Amino acid sequence: MSVTSEEAARAALRERQGAGARYDSPNAPARELAWARRGTAYFARKLNELDDAALYEPSLLPGWTRAHLVAHVGYNARALTRLIEWARTGVETPMYASTAQRDAEIANGATLPARALRNLFAHAEVHLNVEWRDLTDAGWDAQVRTAQGRLVPARETAWMRTREVWVHAVDLGNGGSFADFPPDLQDELIEDVLRAWARREEKVDLTVAPAGREPIVVGAGGPTVSGTTADLAAWLTGRGGRGLTSSTGEVPEIPRWF
Ligand code: ZN
Repeated sequence: MSVTSEEAARAALRERQGAGARYDSPNAPARELAWARRGTAYFARKLNELDDAALYEPSLLPGWTRAHLVAHVGYNARALTRLIEWARTGVETPMYASTAQRDAEIANGATLPARALRNLFAHAEVHLNVEWRDLTDAGWDAQVRTAQGRLVPARETAWMRTREVWVHAVDLGNGGSFADFPPDLQDELIEDVLRAWARREEKVDLTVAPAGREPIVVGAGGPTVSGTTADLAAWLTGRGGRGLTSSTGEVPEIPRWF
């Protein structure tokens, strides 16, 4: 959908909802929420292109069917909803009780019938969006904890969701591509990977050279890897090295994203 038709659709929705409709609070992270909502629509579109049988075929993630991915993306929305409830009420509710619980939930979810999987994705997404819309200015700054154990303001959930829906839409493996992502999101994904490496003090020497842009020097520089921003973002987030060239002739090994 073009920006103008998206805006028109949103305006039409507001009109239908009438005066009681709620909007994001002024302190909400507008850019990240817009990415998350567009990405949710993108994931939904790729999911709708798949017939029920195709859901149980392999995704691009090793060991995961598409059903695993849909379950994971649905349960991720529920987990982020718990963080927003925590921000709203002050009552600590973690994303997941444990890694084992998270993994078991995904494994069980992957065995659900197609209709249940599609409903899980749709309902969890709506619930998260309602929580976001109702969160107050103070709530967006309240501290919550990520699944990795980091304390972050609740506003971070919009970026966390953005990453999940866009990147996993590509992982569905039915034609989605980082080239479909908004250009400013491609840039932010590259920055996000570099920030994650810095936080973990990964020893990486690398120059990331997006076509027609200033190169980004990591550590001592090292090999220069060039390509489109989309292909570089895909590679840095662990989704292959297609379309890239390296000054050493070989695209180097890099640490995981998170
Ligand atoms: Zn994920």
